[in-house]
Amino acid sequence: MTLLNRLRDYPHILEVAYQFTEKVFQLLNPIFQRLGYEWADKLLRLPEKIGKGAVFNCQMCGQCALHFTGMTCPMGCPKNLRNGPCGGVRLNGFCEVDATKKCVWVEAFERSKKMRVYGADIYVLLPPLNQQNMGRSAFINIAFLKNSEMPEAWQMETGLRHDHK
Ligand code: SF4
Repeated sequence: MTLLNRLRDYPHILEVAYQFTEKVFQLLNPIFQRLGYEWADKLLRLPEKIGKGAVFNCQMCGQCALHFTGMTCPMGCPKNLRNGPCGGVRLNGFCEVDATKKCVWVEAFERSKKMRVYGADIYVLLPPLNQQNMGRSAFINIAFLKNSEMPEAWQMETGLRHDHK
């Protein structure tokens, strides 16, 4: 685990960074609008991949769930589960597929308890992963394109548009 990966164990700091990022993106929205979201998506893919890759091992699913999952990337689960663990978690909290790794969802739940802003979001039911968004910038997709390609009923349940108190 790298030094940056270790930041995941400080989710209360990461959630503040997330809030800050959300505000910055809202401020930048007029620029993205002028540029066109498709172009903004292309521009942001690489920095997003590098930044979130370094901290979260982000796999660019295009449908970021971090603040719903204790700032723990659900794509780290070998089964890519997005709504809690499978039935195979070992008694010691490790993964049934890779016994050397702690279950992503055990980590997510433990970390969510340290989060004062988004901690309760761990209980929100997340939409299924839309594979068509793989590789896209989740910042743009979720914040401004309303999680494109997602059936309308799911769109308000995820991402930056979620109504945080
Ligand atoms: S949920 Fe998706 S966008 Fe967010 S860190 Fe994981 S792979 Fe990246």
